[in-house]
Amino acid sequence: MSYKWAESFDLGMLSEEEKEELRSDFTYKKTMNDLMREGRAAAKGSTCYYCGKESSSFCNSHSIPAFCLRNIAASGQVLTPNAMIDFPLMDIEKGVNKAGTFQIICRDCDSHIFSDYENPANYTNPPTSTMIAQIALKNALRAISKRKFETELFNVGYAKSGRGKEIVDLKNSVNALDLAEYVAYFNRAKKAIEKNHSSDYQLFFYEQLNYVVPIAFQCELALVFDFEGNIINYIYNASPDYKVKSIHLCVFPLESHTAIIMFADAENKRYRKFIKQFNRLTHDDKLAALTFIMFAYSEDIFFAKQIQQIVTNNPALCEASRSSQDVLSSYLGVDPYEVIRENYNLSKRHSIPNLLSEEYKLR
Ligand SMILES: [Zn+2]
Repeated sequence: MSYKWAESFDLGMLSEEEKEELRSDFTYKKTMNDLMREGRAAAKGSTCYYCGKESSSFCNSHSIPAFCLRNIAASGQVLTPNAMIDFPLMDIEKGVNKAGTFQIICRDCDSHIFSDYENPANYTNPPTSTMIAQIALKNALRAISKRKFETELFNVGYAKSGRGKEIVDLKNSVNALDLAEYVAYFNRAKKAIEKNHSSDYQLFFYEQLNYVVPIAFQCELALVFDFEGNIINYIYNASPDYKVKSIHLCVFPLESHTAIIMFADAENKRYRKFIKQFNRLTHDDKLAALTFIMFAYSEDIFFAKQIQQIVTNNPALCEASRSSQDVLSSYLGVDPYEVIRENYNLSKRHSIPNLLSEEYKLR
């Protein structure tokens, strides 16, 4: 399942006072950066995850195509949700070359396995089934890389400090289940590309806006509630037999227009009600709902400096980007879905700025 890294790492490890101290503690920052570097190196392995060939240098793959990020960047920089969360170890702004990157495949693979969907010229028409499968493949690779990194980070951290064994064990057992699911998604997407299947994914929303939005996004998301508050995914069901199901959402700012794409695995029927409810919304309301979903469910969102004030000054949006799924530790004994119901309440889309609407266009 998808969740936000900052809060997951934060689980039981940092108090508010500690966080405050960390913001000004450079020794801590350095130690953590070293730890993350070691975790990353351990997670990388020595072979390309796609072709399996031995590889000494991995490609710096972008979770969101770099050409989309460039279309919203100012002086080569884009903003991250940390502009609102202010988690001490994460950057507020990032250079395009470092924004949302992961290293798990070789350069050769990176240059061809995403080539249809990473070509801006291919966005004059709805995405082809190959482009959709390439997006699904990228999302799976990114998730696999994240889970491997987190597992190694917890291992390295524990090896060094000897602290928090229970948390490390809990996190890593959840990570192992997640990883297995993403590997299955990866295999499915790879097969869809190789066999040129057109029916593996269902594109249920595609729209071209004739202006450039200030947000770039590509992620798979496991929604918890639909528009009527019904549960879509029982994310706290720990049974290995229960699979959390995701949808894929992309917001691609292009040179003079924007492509918005939403699709799901064709076998995934869990979103039927959500899709119906979504399709009944007006055009503007759909954009507002997508804006809320991106901020509430993901940290892999990048936005333009031009909207920094609008974003950071809106309490509902800041609250959405802080919403967390890790509630078990602090609310043990309470129905966790009731605890997070308000965080993910889709009617909150009405209290945030509709950042995908024409009002906030960059050009
Ligand atoms: Zn390769």
